[in-house]
Amino acid sequence: MVHEAVVGSAPTLLVVDDEVVQRLIVCRAAEKLGYAPDGVATLEEAIDWLKTRNPAIVVLDLSLRDRDGIELLRDIATLGRDPIIIFLSGFDERIRETAARLAVALGLRVAGTLGKPLQLELLLTMIGEAPRIVPRAAKGAIRSLTPLMLDEALERGEVQCLFQPKFNLVGRRIVGFEALARWHSPAMGIIGPEMFIPLAERHGLIDRITLHVLNQSLTQLRRWQACDPRLDMSVNLSPVSLGDLSLPERIDDILRQHGVAPSSLVLEVTEGAVMADYISAADILTRLRIHGVGISVDDFGTGHSSLLSLLRLPFGELKIDQSFVRGLINDPEAAKIVKAVLSLAASMDLKVVAEGIENEAICHRLTELGAGIGQGYLFAPPLGTAAVDAMLGASVKV
Ligand code: C2E
Ligand code: MG
Ligand code: MG
Repeated sequence: MVHEAVVGSAPTLLVVDDEVVQRLIVCRAAEKLGYAPDGVATLEEAIDWLKTRNPAIVVLDLSLRDRDGIELLRDIATLGRDPIIIFLSGFDERIRETAARLAVALGLRVAGTLGKPLQLELLLTMIGEAPRIVPRAAKGAIRSLTPLMLDEALERGEVQCLFQPKFNLVGRRIVGFEALARWHSPAMGIIGPEMFIPLAERHGLIDRITLHVLNQSLTQLRRWQACDPRLDMSVNLSPVSLGDLSLPERIDDILRQHGVAPSSLVLEVTEGAVMADYISAADILTRLRIHGVGISVDDFGTGHSSLLSLLRLPFGELKIDQSFVRGLINDPEAAKIVKAVLSLAASMDLKVVAEGIENEAICHRLTELGAGIGQGYLFAPPLGTAAVDAMLGASVKV
């Protein structure tokens, strides 16, 4: 096995590349940033390596002699490893971005993609920023989640919201927040929504989660509006809830209990959710809209819905999916999609929120293209209430 190994207590970085010079360059960059790097040349070596170790970062070449790096992504996921992936490849941007999307679909975290010849500065930035991509509880432990565990967690108040600020891109003013659920399990650590929301949906627990999230987020919004009454709160709605015709009345009640105006609440639904039962979704969303609640299409562009049916619904906002936002600078296809969404939204008088803004270059390009609002790690990750209080300043009553 070809090992440029230094193994110590530092976090490990594995580079999988059949070119020895590339491996050495990456290893040296990783060492500079305090990682213990190791390099392998083939897929088989990489799999053997990963069987016994869980690296913090994997730098992966997409073409490994007669094999391709994509195969390794599946192995990383099946082995329950949780590294941050950086793609490194001589293929064009489009192929690298497709690989990155595939990795995300497999539940892996991706820091970015790099072409060859390697731009060392970019590699250093990606490795340097990787720790900000927050790890979740070990996937192995999460696989054994049961509805009873979630039921008890809800009872004990372990499901809590974080709030990610939404910013006006030009003035960098906070215009609102998105409530994002987390399960703080004393035994397993922080469990992300992608693990427990589907479980809740399958076992009739999603209404309790939605209610809980609405109560927590509107309680906080009421306080934060003392600082700026224009602030709003976005809450994600499960597709399952769009089958419940009493939802608009129940939301009205909750808004009344909290003394929050309907126009301060935005409910986010995905395209797929709407298309699953179009008639029921159209009924519920239209009534919510009539009552004054804002409706947003989340992850816009990732579904396969008929644009026409979608745009006939009473949406006031489109959230451009982060996969397109991330590709805005380097992936010409993603850039075309972002432009098309912005011009569609302008012609239909819809607000646009760009999600997943991770750097200034993307933010700058979005403003050039006329996007108004955005959220992303560049501005702030999802935050606890104390951190939001601090951001909003002294006018918030604790
Ligand atoms: P979403 O509604 O599209 O939320 C945006 C996701 O992007 C969040 O992931 C957020 O933490 C993440 N994010 C924000 N900024 C950045 C960035 O700059 N870069 C990257 N890479 N990611 C960023 P999170 O919190 O893991 O939520 C995942 C999904 O789970 C959400 O996607 C939403 O569909 C669902 N979800 C979260 N909370 C709830 C909830 O209370 N109810 C329901 N039904 N679904 C929820
Ligand atoms: Mg959302
Ligand atoms: Mg989204």
